[in-house]
Parts: sequence; structure tokens; C-alpha cells
Amino acid sequence: MTTTRVLRGKAQFGSHLEPATVVIEDGHIHAISRGQEASGNFAESVSISDVDVISAGLIDLQANGGNCHEIGNDPAALDAVSAWLPETGVTSWLPTVVSASAGFYPSVFDAWDRINPSSGATPLGYHLEGPFLSPQKKGAHQLRHIEEANQTLFETWLEQSSIRLVTLAPERDDAVRRIETLSSHGIVVSLGHTNATYEQFKAGIDAGATKATHLFNTMSTIHHRDPGAMVATLNDVRITAGLIPDGVHTHPGMIDLAIRTKGIDRIVIVSDMMSAAGLQPGIYGLGGQEVTVDDLSARLANGTLAGSMLTMDQAIRNLVDWSFGSFGEALHMCTAVPARVIGESNRGELRAGAVADLTIWTADLNVSETIVGGTTAWRR
Ligand SMILES: [Zn+2]
Repeated sequence: MTTTRVLRGKAQFGSHLEPATVVIEDGHIHAISRGQEASGNFAESVSISDVDVISAGLIDLQANGGNCHEIGNDPAALDAVSAWLPETGVTSWLPTVVSASAGFYPSVFDAWDRINPSSGATPLGYHLEGPFLSPQKKGAHQLRHIEEANQTLFETWLEQSSIRLVTLAPERDDAVRRIETLSSHGIVVSLGHTNATYEQFKAGIDAGATKATHLFNTMSTIHHRDPGAMVATLNDVRITAGLIPDGVHTHPGMIDLAIRTKGIDRIVIVSDMMSAAGLQPGIYGLGGQEVTVDDLSARLANGTLAGSMLTMDQAIRNLVDWSFGSFGEALHMCTAVPARVIGESNRGELRAGAVADLTIWTADLNVSETIVGGTTAWRR
């Protein structure tokens, strides 16, 4: 039996909102039309909801965990995060694994085959953040995993269809060849945790990298005679920059700079959330290290930031509150841009034929309902 649902409200077209009618049928967007279609146009049995704002579902390319679960080799933990994410407006995501030992990865890939993707937000593949990173820009990653990472480990990755995105540092030995190899396997390469010179970073882009991981954090600094990774990211249109707008990882002034320089088509908002996101302050874990969490941040004992407490819906409220864009522009950086970065052509936009992943919002920018594949995954 065909199930049809109609939503009427301001809908996301690109980066602006206007009144529209969205028809969902059998897990897909069947039609979207501008303006409010009359109820009489639909069969009496069709459910019609009048709502404030309808956007494409939010897509998070970097989440290490949430709601007390850390992403690693436990499929139940991954499922638990998927089940919780719709509360934050997220409909699909990349579970993100921080640097680990070579011996750990086989169990991570094995876990992928045992997840249950039917519950909650859809996991689209892993984001492996490290371990091919700069020892000088390790952030909260463990140095020994970064130092031990070798070609043997790298080659085991190439047989894994569960890998969607890899963060690596372009200045490491063999990095250029690895970027070319990953790209030729359809894996998106993001440059980050890097101490690269401007030229080394550019060589990484030339080799096929299309994204930068959390711009400004764990990157070589800016000097006018040695501009480094940040300026290379800002200058090069081939790179889309990940940003964590939590007010802690980067000063809002730097977010402003990035959006002005790159434009909203080349900025992708990520949460970088860790297991304590959505919970109370306390002691939690990340990649085998203890992390102290307060209301806004998560830090190692030495003060190093260890993931964030940011959720994607809060990121949107922050961007709008800081006047760095309209609601529609903030949505664009959390929907269409992440979809394009990982080549998800059937998500990220309200368009006939797309997967019916939608987030419904109140007028004051709170999530009221999240729809994954046409089914309500969460409702306030
Ligand atoms: Zn990181």
C-alpha cells in the first residue's frame, strides 16, 4: 500500500525559505511545489501537516559519539547514536573513528556489517580521522597511533567499502600517493591535523583532496611569509572547509572570516561531537583517554580540546544568533554542502525523487520532528 504524507510550511529551496507543499510517498519526496496546496487536492485518507519550517535532513560528516556512546568497534554503540541523532535534526551521518592502533581497525570494519541501519539516522560510512596525521598537530589523538601508522595498515583499508572519508595530513611521507589512491577508490580525502606548508597543502589538493577537517583547529598557523594550511584552505575553491561553530573550538570572528572568504557553498558544518554530547558535565572517554566535560567543552587533562558538545541543530542556532547567515544559509551548510562533499546525490535537498530525509522546525529554530526515509524518527 502506498503511504502518502503532505507537509505544508516554509520549505528550504537552496539557501532560502519560501512557502511550499512537500509530498512524501514511500520513503521519497514525491513532489514539492511552491505555495500552499489546498487540502482538497489530496485524497481524504492522506495525512496533511501544517508546520513552520521544512528543511532537508541535517547531515553530520564528523561525529565521534553522543548520548553516552563512543564510536569504535561496538555495533550497538553505533546504533544507539543513530537512534539518538534525530533528536538533533540529523538524518544521516558519518560515524567518526579517532586514531587507533592497526590491530583495532579490523574490528571496526567488522562492526559495520553488524549494525542495524533501520533505527534512526542513517550511517553512510565511516569517517576515519587519523592515524596518518601530523605528530605536531595531534590534538586529542594518541601520539603512538600516529607514529605507528604505516603502509601495511593503509593497504588493509582499500578493501573496505565502509570507509567514506579519511582525514590525513598531506605533508606525511607518501601522503600524496595515498590521497590519489583513496580518491581513485571513491573515498573522500579531507586534509587535517596538519602542520603542512602552504605548498604541501596545495599538493594535497592537487592530488585529489576536496575537504579540510575542522578549519583552524590543529592546523599550521598563519604567517605572512609562510601562510600554511589555513590560508591554503581559505584560498582554494577546490576545498570545502569543515567548521565547528560551538564558540569554543574557534572564536566566532574566525567563523565569520571563513564564511566571508569561502562562501556558503564551500563551508560544511560538522558537530565533531563526542560521547558526552547531549549529557551532563562529567568524566567521559575518547579514543582510550579520559575527557572532562563541562557545559560547553570536552578536554583532556592538559586542556586540549577532545571533540565537542555541539549538536547540529545548536550549530544552526549559533550561526543565526551570531548573524553569520540566515536560517536558510545555515541550513545549506548542514544539508546540501555535506551531501555534495561525499557525493550523496539523493540527499541534502528538498527535491522530487530525493530520499525523504527531512527536519521540521519551529519558528524559533528548534527541531519539532525528524523524518528519515519517509518515517518519523523523532517527534518533540
Ligand atoms: Zn580532529
